[in-house]
Amino acid sequence: MNGKRKKYKEFKKFEADLKEMDMKIKNLKINSKEFNKLVELKKRLVPMYIGEKIQRCQHYIAYDNPVYHISTDTTTYDYYCPKCGLASELASYDREDLSDEDKVRYDYFKSSGIASKKGNYNYVVDRDIAMSIYEKILEKNPGINSKTAIKYFEIALDNMIDKPVTDEAIEHRAERLETNALSIRNIHRKNKN
Ligand SMILES: [Zn+2]
Repeated sequence: MNGKRKKYKEFKKFEADLKEMDMKIKNLKINSKEFNKLVELKKRLVPMYIGEKIQRCQHYIAYDNPVYHISTDTTTYDYYCPKCGLASELASYDREDLSDEDKVRYDYFKSSGIASKKGNYNYVVDRDIAMSIYEKILEKNPGINSKTAIKYFEIALDNMIDKPVTDEAIEHRAERLETNALSIRNIHRKNKN
């Protein structure tokens, strides 16, 4: 096994261990000794995990928070990566108000920004929704590589934008993604084509 492959395996193991820890925490009595111990451990491990994840990520760029400027007839956007959660908007927050995970992303964004490989990105979608869609694709397709996962991600967004569905179906979708129907309806393409 070469070094890169070994590192990848270690990272996957780390990821699996954290998931297992989550399951354990869910089944433990809140504030029991074991519960507090695991929560404390997780608090230390999650920032390390997010940092690893960002560094390993081939970022994919999506857009959020469109602001239309009437004087120049242009729209500006925040941008982020749905795979690792790195996001330009974090830089505008007070660091102390962020979650432990977003604090790691904040530091990383401030020092390095988001460098992506190619520039043909076109989706405007709320960051939490996009991350939730991406996460669900990984869950449903164990072992999928990130290139294929991104293809599925784009197909999912295309379907949401192009295929008309009933209000009820949108409500269901919103529920699955833990968001509201309006955020689902707001998903669109940056360049209409
Ligand atoms: Zn990324």
